[in-house]
This record gives sequence, structure tokens and C-alpha cells, in this order.
Amino acid sequence: MLTGRSPSPPSSDRVRPDVAVVGAGPIGLAIAWRCAARGLRVEVHDPAPGSGASAVAAGMLSPVAEAYFGERQLTGLLLASAARWPAFAAELTETTGYQIGYRTEGTLLIGLTGDDLAEARRLWAYQQGLGLPVTPLRPSELRDREPALAPRVRGGALAPTDHQVDPRLLVPALRAAAQRAGAVLVPRPVRHLSDVDAEVTVVAAGCGAAALTGLPVRPVKGQILRLRAPDGVAPGFRHVIRGYADGEHVYLVPRADGEVVLGATVEERSDTTVTAGAVQRLLRAGVDLLPELAEYDLVEAIAGLRPGTPDNAPILGPLPDRPDVLAATGHHRHGIVLTPITAELIADLVLGGVPDPLLTPFRADRFGGAASGGPEPTTEGNLWS
Ligand SMILES: Cc1cc2nc3c(=O)[nH]c(=O)nc-3n(C[C@H](O)[C@H](O)[C@H](O)COP(=O)(O)OP(=O)(O)OC[C@H]3O[C@@H](n4cnc5c(N)ncnc54)[C@H](O)[C@@H]3O)c2cc1C
Repeated sequence: MLTGRSPSPPSSDRVRPDVAVVGAGPIGLAIAWRCAARGLRVEVHDPAPGSGASAVAAGMLSPVAEAYFGERQLTGLLLASAARWPAFAAELTETTGYQIGYRTEGTLLIGLTGDDLAEARRLWAYQQGLGLPVTPLRPSELRDREPALAPRVRGGALAPTDHQVDPRLLVPALRAAAQRAGAVLVPRPVRHLSDVDAEVTVVAAGCGAAALTGLPVRPVKGQILRLRAPDGVAPGFRHVIRGYADGEHVYLVPRADGEVVLGATVEERSDTTVTAGAVQRLLRAGVDLLPELAEYDLVEAIAGLRPGTPDNAPILGPLPDRPDVLAATGHHRHGIVLTPITAELIADLVLGGVPDPLLTPFRADRFGGAASGGPEPTTEGNLWS
């Protein structure tokens, strides 16, 4: 990459950038910040910064609750990134003065019925087998922590290290940090890689990466709701709550300003329409877990497109036939939690030219012939996540 070169001297003239980042979502902006802060001349191309999946995302930082069967390497990356979040959040807030809604109360995992609890326990046993912190709690212990939970909840567990951040605050903070470090935003789309003139190009365009690179990134639709506690008070619970409710898997994310994010569907579709059936199912499951939600204002119903890949893991590193083009895409359900480590590893690669061993399982060439193939199903076979 840029090995052996001194970073370009600052200049007000329009000169060829060291790094062109395509996409100003959390991934592209964090990479731009890290590269610019290390003295590189950076341009970020995006006609609508922050308008991708991050604009609807819940912002759970859940490496433990999302440690799924068959995804051990992804789980390792999620854990490594989550471990970086406290310092990353502190540095971002200190650099910009922006609050990003980073909260560390932890996550409660809930089974509403006996069947829900049995399903949840299978996963918790797997997660505990990996040595992850998942502590089973009796119904009375759950209600001691969150009195607003429904009386019929059969059991649950605490994942104390699964935290949250507000993506709608995070992205403006990352944009400010990148710009303060010298990155320049170019408010235009990139139609072809040949439109970009830079030493290194980083494709961080979320679902837009497929058209630019041919990588197997596909849209995975997620419908999600935002509710608001009445009278501007904080929600009546503090933990992120992830629950199985009569077979539906939903999460509830409380914000300090009274907002509750209730999500989300996982659908193999590329439209962003909101359907009555999805809203009904999300609300029913949410109210079953936390009855007081029925009194909240329903303020938003929206859908976004996660950048999914065949193995649900991101694609990080050079394109097979273009060593000067780095992919940083395919973050699927995990782009917010994976922001710190993606930015760090890609910036290191841009500057040092040698991929960190952590990147090996996520190489762009791992799909072989599947690289130009169509959508493949998610491994969970579960409509809700
Ligand atoms: C309902 C839902 C809930 C989610 N919840 C969570 C969660 O709780 N935790 C978590 O970690 N993740 C969550 N995610 C996933 C997360 O939002 C994504 O993984 C993350 O936003 C990916 O970041 P990104 O920057 O790669 O892409 P995006 O956020 O999609 O941003 C891509 C950017 O690229 C730009 N772009 C696209 N094409 C081009 C082009 N040709 N030229 C220039 N610019 C282009 C777009 O305008 C956009 O600004 C959720 C997603 C959804 C949909």
C-alpha cells in the first residue's frame, strides 16, 4: 500500500489523494478518520452520508448475544471490536465533543414461554461453552433488574458486556472527526472504480459495494420501529432486552431521551417498504415482553438494507485482481459493533501494506466462484433478529 512513503504534506490545492473512501456510513467515515489522523490525504465520496443501513440500525454492541452456531471466526472479530469500543467511544467524544449514546448497562436475554426459554438456553449453552459471559437468571432475578418485564416471562440471562450506542449520533460524530482530521467529503456517487483517482481506494459502500466490485454483498431487509415513552420521560427499563416471545425474536433498545428501538425483521428482499404484518408482529412481541410499551407513542416505522454476505461475515482486504482497492463491506447485522476494528485494521493495511492476521478469515477471495453468485440464505434460518 503506502509503505515507504511519507504521508502527503497538508495542502489546500486539489491534488491526488492518498486514499479515496467510497461510502460515508460508519465504516467509511471511521476508516477516513483513522487514515486522515495518521497524516494521509483522504477523500470520502458519498452523495448522502449516513443514509445507508446505519440510519435505521439499533446500535447494539452484542458480540455475546450474537455468537451463533457456526460463526466462530466472526464471533472472534465481534469480541475483538467490542473490546475496543470503550476507548473508541471516549476518543470520539473527546475529539469532537459529540455525545454518541454509548451505554454499558448490559443486555438481558429473555425467554417468554417455556418453548422460548428452551430455544434460548440452547444458544446460551453454546455461548457459555465458548467461555462468554452469559449468566442465567430466574424470573424473580430478572424482575429485580427490570421490574417492567411481563410477569409471565419464564426465565432469562444477563450478558453484562453487550452494550449499545446510538448510530444516529455516532455517524455525525465520525463525520466531524474525519473532517477535523482533514478528510474531504465529495458529495457525489462513485459509479465505477475508474471514476476514483487515488493511490488506494477503499470501498465501504455497504450494499453499494456489489455493483462496484462484483463481491457477493446482497441487501438483507430489516424493518424496525421507534417508540417514545410518554411525557418525555426515560423508558421504564435500562438494559437492552433481547427476547424470544412465542417464537419471535425481538430486541428493545432504550435511549436516555425516551426513545425505544424495537426490531427487527430479517428478510431476503431489497425493497424498503414497511409492511403491516411486520409492524404487528414486532409490536405484539415487544408488548408481550414489556407491557408498558402499549402506552408508548409509535413515532417511526422504517426499513433498511443490511449489507449481507454468504457467510454473514464482512469482507475486509484487497480485491483479488486489484491490490490497490480494499473492500471494507458486508458487515451485515454487525457494522456498528465492527466499526472500531474495521477502521483500525484497514488503516493499518493502507499504511503498512501487510494484512493483520485477524483479517485472514475475512479476505475478499474466500468465496471463490461464489463471488459473482446471487443471494444465499442466512445460516440461522430465523426470520427475526
Ligand atoms: C434494521 C437494522 C438493524 C441493525 N442493527 C444493528 C445493530 O444493532 N448493531 C450493529 O452492529 N449493526 C446493526 N445493523 C447493521 C449496520 O447498520 C450495518 O452493518 C452498517 O450500517 C454497515 O455500515 P456501512 O458503513 O458499511 O454501510 P451503510 O451504513 O449502509 O452506509 C453505506 C454508505 O455508502 C454510500 N454509498 C453506497 N453506494 C455508493 C456509491 N456508489 N458511491 C458513493 N457512496 C455510496 C451510501 O450512501 C451510505 O452512506 C442493523 C441494520 C439494520 C438494517
